[in-house]
Amino acid sequence: MDFSESEEITALREMLRRYLSKECPVEKVECWDREDFIPRDELKRLGDLGICGWCIPEEYGGLGHNVLGMVATIEELARCSSGLASYYFMCAGYGGLNISESGSDAQKKRFLPELAAGNVAFSYGLSEPNVGADLGAVETRATRDGQQIVINGAKRWTSAASMNDYIYALVRSGPVADKRNNLSFVLIPTAAPGVSVTCLSAMGHNGVPLADVVFQDVELSIDDVVGGESGWNNGWSALAGPALEVEKLGPASIALGIAEAALDEAWQYSQERSQGGKKICGHQAVRHVLTEGRTQLQAARLMLMHAAWLVQEGKPSAVATSMSKLFVSERAKDVTLACQQQVMGAYGYAHGFQMQRYVRDVLAIPIYGGSSAIQRNNIANLLRLPKA
Ligand SMILES: Cc1cc2nc3c(=O)[nH]c(=O)nc-3n(C[C@H](O)[C@H](O)[C@H](O)COP(=O)(O)OP(=O)(O)OC[C@H]3O[C@@H](n4cnc5c(N)ncnc54)[C@H](O)[C@@H]3O)c2cc1C
Repeated sequence: MDFSESEEITALREMLRRYLSKECPVEKVECWDREDFIPRDELKRLGDLGICGWCIPEEYGGLGHNVLGMVATIEELARCSSGLASYYFMCAGYGGLNISESGSDAQKKRFLPELAAGNVAFSYGLSEPNVGADLGAVETRATRDGQQIVINGAKRWTSAASMNDYIYALVRSGPVADKRNNLSFVLIPTAAPGVSVTCLSAMGHNGVPLADVVFQDVELSIDDVVGGESGWNNGWSALAGPALEVEKLGPASIALGIAEAALDEAWQYSQERSQGGKKICGHQAVRHVLTEGRTQLQAARLMLMHAAWLVQEGKPSAVATSMSKLFVSERAKDVTLACQQQVMGAYGYAHGFQMQRYVRDVLAIPIYGGSSAIQRNNIANLLRLPKA
């Protein structure tokens, strides 16, 4: 067993910390948060750093299949801005990793070089007004006539649909009766005629705004189905396979980065604030919150990296990724809230410090990417825990 981080990843973290402290100062991050928008240039600049292609084969301009590299990148970006980390993930994960794993040859040629360069970003279109946890129930329909397909329906909570180029959308492509065999993933251009996007507002997750998307007679071709002809009616295996592993690792990495930033802010604050005649870091209750937080995040990171390594190595990973999504996002939430409430007091609630942003952002993560309850269900089912 070797738990040491590779030199490549340590160097990556150092490079990203230098880049972010210089190019993404807190005023800029606050502006993204306030305006709920991150300019496309910021993604392109990440592409220029060469980090968008961690999970894209070298022949398409990427770096191979380095899931650990992608996860470490997301974690570092999220320490600075969860919005920026999400935006990056929409390029490197939703785009790069998914198309590398499930795209047709034509889609790989068309999209992967652009994704590696940070020129394209995909939104995930899974949820719908009537569909949350139960994804097999999607109602957005794709009807087929020869090579042409037509999409009608609606997606909800589609992060950054107003900013991105494509929606990686799960659609019903056959009779509902055969629930899981009649689903497909389709790459729907957000600029296609018949697509309309309306931004929604939420308490956090800013920079990659949530959106309602309506599809009205959107005409596409079978070449727009992920995987091409072989992907038609084959969406469930993609969803239950690579696409879902990606969806669990990305949010967990964002949660970890947010909580680490929250803990750093509280750690520092505790050495500046005095009460009862001494720095509050000298009060045992505060010391325990901070050290408990460090311990929880250390465990969270090891768990996340182990799950990422399993995915990278192509080993069975579904239980580990579900456990990571559950554990990391719940512990990140607990640690962040403890830092706010038990270390920073009113200053953790007020604008001026970043803590209020960390709290708003981290609270989203046990909800999306498969809620904590759904991960518990997944783990029980995967471990074959009998229901009766
Ligand atoms: C910030 C944010 C970003 C998002 N981004 C995207 C995105 O980019 N693309 C996208 O497609 N979706 C996105 N979502 C939607 C997200 O994936 C859904 O919110 C999530 O799947 C849960 O669906 P729901 O909110 O409709 O809850 P529901 O499915 O209605 O569930 C409500 C509650 O019941 C629980 N529950 C439901 N079914 C079960 C069950 N079988 N067993 C136990 N408990 C259950 C859930 O855990 C939840 O607590 C985002 C959501 C948020 C908050």
